[in-house]
Amino acid sequence: MRISVKGVRGSIPTSGADTSYYGGNTSCTVVSEKDCFLVLDGGSGMQKVTLPAAVKRVDILLTHLHLDHIQGLGFFSSLFNPAMEVHIWGPASATQSLHSRLSRYLSPPLFPVLIRDLPCQLTLHDIANSVFEIGPFTISSRFVIHPGPTVGFRISGQRSVFAYLPDHEPALGLTGLLKDTKWISGFDLASDADLLMHDAQYTTPEYNNKIGWGHSSMEDAIQFASLATVRHFLLTHHDPSRTDELLNEMFADIQKKISPPFPIELAREGMEIELP
Ligand SMILES: [Zn+2]
Ligand SMILES: [Zn+2]
Repeated sequence: MRISVKGVRGSIPTSGADTSYYGGNTSCTVVSEKDCFLVLDGGSGMQKVTLPAAVKRVDILLTHLHLDHIQGLGFFSSLFNPAMEVHIWGPASATQSLHSRLSRYLSPPLFPVLIRDLPCQLTLHDIANSVFEIGPFTISSRFVIHPGPTVGFRISGQRSVFAYLPDHEPALGLTGLLKDTKWISGFDLASDADLLMHDAQYTTPEYNNKIGWGHSSMEDAIQFASLATVRHFLLTHHDPSRTDELLNEMFADIQKKISPPFPIELAREGMEIELP
């Protein structure tokens, strides 16, 4: 299973010299094995996703429909290729279908082309607490704590597991992360994963001023990863105000405070990780 990171920024793209190392594009990560390609979230990083010419199907898995996770969709070339079979999987809502909610972005005046006029062979799938198979992958989606319907994903290949929760606030509540892990949002998705990519947008003081905004402090994210006994942790959804220098300082500070028994890294645009 190959993990290719295309966008790690939270909330809004932040291009510029002072964010060029970690990258300014919003959430997008590609998981692939042979000719099977899953694109996780359609943030602005999606413009950098290219597929081999022989590939005729691609699956886009959306955690939720906040703009930083869908703004790249309209610029994804597969949607304009009549030979491509494209599947978009996204969280069900109690009030509107995935099609009607995505149409609010993919329609004038926000975007010139309507979903129904896209040339590809498009199928939309409303998912909830679901398990489904795509090529060699078994995928579990679960609703997690974040404003609006939002899922996280657990992607199991033949020998490894990748968990993806880019927007997630598992510490929300009166007492932070609960001791009884079965009540922790997203815990089942991350449990024993070979690689976890998880929201770590804030410092602890920032988080204390933004409780309920749907994101995690680095400290809570590392605690979540520790409880879930993951083997490798990638911190993502970097705050748009954070330059490369500030991110490095913040990461150095947290490493002085906590040293979990597994490698932790800041996610970076262009990162490639191979899982067995
Ligand atoms: Zn986001
Ligand atoms: Zn969000």
